[in-house]
Amino acid sequence: MTDNSCNRVKVSSSALRNNFRFLQRSVNSGVAVMAMVKADGYGHGMVNAARVFSDAGCMAFGVAELREAVILRKAGIGGSIYVTMAFGIEDVGLFFKYDLIPVIYDYNAALALSRKAVESASEITVHIKVDTGMGRLGVFADELPRFIDGISALAGVKIGGFMSHFPEADTPEKDSTDKGYDLFSTGCINNGRCIDTICHIANSSAVLNFPKTHCDMVRVGIALYGYHPAGKVDQTGFQANNLLPALSFTSRILQVKLFPAGAGISYGYTYRTSEPRKIAVLPVGYEDGFSRRLSNRATVLIGGRRVPVVGRICMNMCMVDVTSVVGVKSGDEVVFIGRQGSESINADDIAKSMGTISYEVLCLFGNNNNRIYVE
Ligand SMILES: *Cc1c(COP(=O)(O)O)cnc(C)c1O
Repeated sequence: MTDNSCNRVKVSSSALRNNFRFLQRSVNSGVAVMAMVKADGYGHGMVNAARVFSDAGCMAFGVAELREAVILRKAGIGGSIYVTMAFGIEDVGLFFKYDLIPVIYDYNAALALSRKAVESASEITVHIKVDTGMGRLGVFADELPRFIDGISALAGVKIGGFMSHFPEADTPEKDSTDKGYDLFSTGCINNGRCIDTICHIANSSAVLNFPKTHCDMVRVGIALYGYHPAGKVDQTGFQANNLLPALSFTSRILQVKLFPAGAGISYGYTYRTSEPRKIAVLPVGYEDGFSRRLSNRATVLIGGRRVPVVGRICMNMCMVDVTSVVGVKSGDEVVFIGRQGSESINADDIAKSMGTISYEVLCLFGNNNNRIYVE
């Protein structure tokens, strides 16, 4: 993770800015865009990404845990910072100290906030999380009226908004999004009990596929980083050129060797040369985010050509077959995510070979390597 590493994650500030502006244009004026910067900004660096979004006009940020919110504030990020998942009751004072917004689904957490508010003669604004079908965090919609009663009765606690989350907004033909939205609008938007609240339910997929769910604010993550949530780029409104992948990952060749026919490569000899092959050794392994599941599956770019990973990916190294690359030598650039000549590889390509989604690939490479920011 030092600056001297051969492995380098580059994050393009201009791509992040472009994506934020595109998403802000994709919703009606008056609809706020909350930038989800959890997981260290999906591998792009939470503080730096938040700064870029903030400079582009973003005024709301979402993280999972309280500690992330404190880091953002200490780094000078302004606007509203929402802690959407977790905090310890013993830490409620930090919400007051750093002017943060807790998301509440638990009465005891709200009670602790109320006590702190009374003790410090102040008020705390909370948002309530509702489970409208995600099957994850939140108060069930049918328990919401009682929950609201309980929270409303707490001194120093103001209900500033409601939020929920969709499980299948990436699949427009599924009906869970409409169902969830109906529950949300009946229970929260039209409950008539809390005026002046901010309601938010849409993630990147819903921004794209379900415009009626945009409410007062949308919470976007993956699209800000340049990826379509369903791994496509050609759907209405999210054309290829509108979202720009912001993260690239490159390395350098350590050694190039000519192996005779029949040579076993790497642990377990899962690959054997069928004829003499030129093999390059790269300083990238699963420790660097290049999952072992990609052994004998992934490709990388060297000399403008797409070349295959051969044999098992090790902890800190992997091997690629560079027989087709004329003049290849140690020190040459290797692209794992990004562009080289006319070829490119993106996080969706890697995700497909791995059986996962771009989100995980970005976190893996981004959070396990040295990052630099470029325009
Ligand atoms: C991560 C997250 C989002 C953003 O989801 P994307 O699919 O990346 O847009 C929205 N809401 C909540 C609660 C989240 O945890």
